[in-house]
Amino acid sequence: MTNPQQILKQYFSYDSFKYPQQEMIESVLSGNDVVGVLPTGFGKSLCYQIPAIAFNGITLVISPLISLMKDQTDSLKSKGIKAEFLNSTLTLKKQREIENDCLNGNVKLLYLAPERLINEDRKSFFERLNVSLIAPDEAHLANVWGKNFRPGYRKLSLLRNLYPEVPIMAVTATATEEIIDDICEQLLLIKPKIFRASFDRPNISIEVTQKGYAEGKIRDLLNETFDYGQQGSAIIYCYSRKDCSDLSYFINNMTDHESAFYHAGMKKKERIETQEKFFSGEIKIIIATIAFGMGIDKPDVRLVVHHTMSKSIEGYYQEIGRAGRDGLPSRAVLLYSYHDIGKIEFLIKKTNQNSPWEKTQEELDRLEKMVEFCTRIQCRREMILNHFGENSSDYCGDNGSGCDVCGIK
Ligand code: ADP
Ligand code: MG
Ligand code: ZN
Repeated sequence: MTNPQQILKQYFSYDSFKYPQQEMIESVLSGNDVVGVLPTGFGKSLCYQIPAIAFNGITLVISPLISLMKDQTDSLKSKGIKAEFLNSTLTLKKQREIENDCLNGNVKLLYLAPERLINEDRKSFFERLNVSLIAPDEAHLANVWGKNFRPGYRKLSLLRNLYPEVPIMAVTATATEEIIDDICEQLLLIKPKIFRASFDRPNISIEVTQKGYAEGKIRDLLNETFDYGQQGSAIIYCYSRKDCSDLSYFINNMTDHESAFYHAGMKKKERIETQEKFFSGEIKIIIATIAFGMGIDKPDVRLVVHHTMSKSIEGYYQEIGRAGRDGLPSRAVLLYSYHDIGKIEFLIKKTNQNSPWEKTQEELDRLEKMVEFCTRIQCRREMILNHFGENSSDYCGDNGSGCDVCGIK
């Protein structure tokens, strides 16, 4: 089966693509290198899974997290798609079996960690493989100065050299121009077609306010969000573990609301329990460090508060992006204080003590952008979307929830 629309319906049970999924798929099917810049939760995986089904040979998916590979391949298998992964969690015997399956053409998608590519003992395996597509997921990890740079992603250039005719489809949710340029360079992409979906989340209102008497402001925000028995939940991001527990104590004792806190200093069991209670709705308000939220997909988060500003626009937008997944109006409120800048600067310098100065500088530059965002007197959405490479004439528009500069709707 080679028709993308048909594959979408038959294997994934969806009726239609979201722009630009189909365009990306068709472009790679006609042999182009493709970069997809699509926000988290948009559906990047489909963009390489569908060509993988359509192509004759195997698709190599480069994925950074070993812990997710099993889930991903299990989910494909449950749809009747032949997918496997190779990583250190498998016995050598099992790895050989899978390699043979791949060589015999029985596997459509093979998930690999970048570090495992083309080691000496794997070389002959890769040389004999009939590869149709190479798909680096989370491709921003190839960006050398990025905060999560994974040296293994550099090995992707070896794949390009080994299979010069095979198209590459790189996908990422990191959208700044310079990072995209660097990805194209690192992966040796040839005239890549770059596709973007808008990163705008019009149902989230974006507000920045002075921090003074933060507790009182947060109490008011919670009252406004949950008065009259309104449903939903809230996340409050704090700078430190102590801020989390202090603020949670305040809310539980000085307001009509109940909260729990979450941070990396808690026992794993406790953390999992808290997270589950938040998901089930037993806990409505969670006070957390940014350790909380990886993969959060709770639809009804009505309010995200930043008790302390984020270290970067990227981080901030990811955090507020946990609000309003159900598309209903939601608020993101950041409490800004000049004093917090110094705290974050100190943290950046401390955690980068042994890093090259460029890395420290890069993080300080990101912080500066964040400060610029907080102190700005023009549309805040405009600055965020410009940062992600988007242009529009009217960012907060008629349909959106607005920002505190344009007006909250
Ligand atoms: P991303 O990697 O971009 O964060 P995923 O690939 O994990 O997102 O997909 C997120 C969810 O969106 C999945 O449940 C996926 O099945 C769903 N999805 C993808 N494409 C479509 C579509 N065209 N229509 C409806 N749902 C889709
Ligand atoms: Mg993904
Ligand atoms: Zn605005």
